[in-house]
Amino acid sequence: MSASMTLEIPTSGWYVLGNARLHASLTPGLDGPLDRDGFATVDIAVADGKVTGIASRGARPPPPRATDLAGRIVLPCFIDCHTHIDKGHIWQRMPNPDGSFMGALDAVDADRLVRWNADDLARRMEFSLRCAYVHGTSALRTHLDSVAPQEGISWPVFEQVRESWRGRIALQAASLVGIERVRETAWFDRLAARVATANGILGAVTYMVPDLETLLDRIFRTAAERGLDLDFHADETDDTSAVSLRLIAEAALRHRFEGKILVGHCCALARQPDREVRQTLDKVAAAGISVVSLPMCNLYLQDRRQDRTTPRWRGVTLVHEMRVRGIPVAIASDNTRDPFHAYGDLDMLEVHRMATRILHLDHPIGDWPKAATATPAAIMGIEGGTVSVGGTADLVIFKGRSWTELLSRPESDRIVLRAGKAIERVLPDYAELDGLMG
Ligand SMILES: [Zn+2]
Repeated sequence: MSASMTLEIPTSGWYVLGNARLHASLTPGLDGPLDRDGFATVDIAVADGKVTGIASRGARPPPPRATDLAGRIVLPCFIDCHTHIDKGHIWQRMPNPDGSFMGALDAVDADRLVRWNADDLARRMEFSLRCAYVHGTSALRTHLDSVAPQEGISWPVFEQVRESWRGRIALQAASLVGIERVRETAWFDRLAARVATANGILGAVTYMVPDLETLLDRIFRTAAERGLDLDFHADETDDTSAVSLRLIAEAALRHRFEGKILVGHCCALARQPDREVRQTLDKVAAAGISVVSLPMCNLYLQDRRQDRTTPRWRGVTLVHEMRVRGIPVAIASDNTRDPFHAYGDLDMLEVHRMATRILHLDHPIGDWPKAATATPAAIMGIEGGTVSVGGTADLVIFKGRSWTELLSRPESDRIVLRAGKAIERVLPDYAELDGLMG
């Protein structure tokens, strides 16, 4: 038996997590009365690393071999579909001088050129993944800065890291380049080939350059030819003339693109006139595009004013308007302790807690618990993100018994079960990175 927060979780054989709260949106076919947050009280049977049964608690006596969770919330392990673990944790040696977007771009460029060798990348990625794992994340997509010659360094490191983390965190990577790099046809084609070799995702940051539609056509054509999914950073600005989300949707429809498309940020949408927003979102829905909001990074960078006056808007996109149209919406960590976001620890509970406050993912809670679990799993095309009979018992047990209890404390003493067994949860010490910060 392993002792964690007074609960004894068996380490072998079968057992039951009794009197647990599961959210209706995360458990297909859940029956039984729901509380006002949408949770049902159930017994979860676990055997051989899998969930083998979910039974409504009702008035039944406790089953044998049951650990009484006393109504605590159990969530599936988190799925973090938009991160930058190649940039992570460089803050100490390369801070953002003024907290602005341009400050972030310049600082990361300077750091990458000088410091991002294979050893530096591997050690920082490892640190990030250890944090994510301890917090209960089971799958993660990272963008990889792929501007030449970095793609030749970062992709091989990523492939090694992905292999060494297999079974703990399922990893995906997307290439990240400014859209203007796509003009270099031959180089971009070589990058796409490298991405395909690594089973990666083709990505770019869109800006409102005059030839944006031509460049998008090239990206969509290349992705279709190589069978790659797409992942964009779009409209991460308050500039209302930034409409690349709409242009991406139009390109997807024009190309009848059959792969998956994820678009991150889309901040400018929140500043545009309602009629324009409706037209854009109708196209996004028709094109089958998913959106990921990065609320912590947006809050940090957006509306940071040169005169150091107080920010006037949250910087996030229109997630509720998207959900009304059936557009899948995820939330994710984005940058962690780098010039784009000075804070963070790849803790998706923190992301969910912040997102709930910033984006009003409550009243009602509805199916928003999917935004950090089931929705990103579907976006990444992987198993997980639900608590289902037959599924792997990758679960997080919290102390909170209601949404307000869950999202009011850090829940640092949560229990993370991987394949039914509690993992050791020790966060890496920042001092481990000191040797890279000189
Ligand atoms: Zn990002």
